[in-house]
Amino acid sequence: KKIIITIDGWSSCGKSTLAKQLAKELNYVYIDSGAMYRAITLYFLRNHVDWTKHKAVDEALKEITLDFRYNEHSKQSEMYLNDENVEYVIRDLVVAEKVSEVAAVKEVRQFAVKQQQQMGEKKGIVMDGRDIGTVVFPKAALKIFMTADNAIRVERRFKELFEKNPNVTIEEVKNNLEMRDYIDSHREVSPLRQAEDAIVLDNTNLTMKQQLEIALRWAKE
Ligand code: C5P
Repeated sequence: KKIIITIDGWSSCGKSTLAKQLAKELNYVYIDSGAMYRAITLYFLRNHVDWTKHKAVDEALKEITLDFRYNEHSKQSEMYLNDENVEYVIRDLVVAEKVSEVAAVKEVRQFAVKQQQQMGEKKGIVMDGRDIGTVVFPKAALKIFMTADNAIRVERRFKELFEKNPNVTIEEVKNNLEMRDYIDSHREVSPLRQAEDAIVLDNTNLTMKQQLEIALRWAKE
């Protein structure tokens, strides 16, 4: 029987890496909810939308269509913003600097959550984010809450970003992760927190293979 699996947790602790592998093993669909907030942020930045103003946000959201499309080459689904593939640009630090502010706006969350819930109607999905087990799918059959030591998280994200942009510094990455975690866990609307029925997975000392084995065991229980 196909279920909904939610993976929440702090920034850069390997949620999407695990979620992708888990979905592949189970033949499920992986949905990156963070990509949706990032795409909305990209739109706001490009169009100079003032996200502190309700009216401006409402009007801008009407102009935004988000969808995930499967890419045969990369073998993964990619984020599209109004028919443009933004999968790679949304990973830029420019977007990461603002995404937590945008994701704290009530109207933005309503817009994203509604679409995420529709994607879950089919079951057989793994979705990662910050509020998936608490708000988007409070009845999910398996909820994982991931953590990892700060230093490890900074190092992992730094390596990822450095490959694309050798000008990025470890300080910048560290500050960005700390800032996002702070805003994400202190915002008024659905702050990041562990669902009561979530199982904690601390992957500081686990290989990818070990994490996958643990999660697969939970998924089959
Ligand atoms: O998962 P990722 O790091 O790409 O998410 C980017 C940002 O989007 C997070 O720092 C958070 O501010 C926001 N987010 C959220 N709720 C989610 C997923 C992401 O608020 N479910």
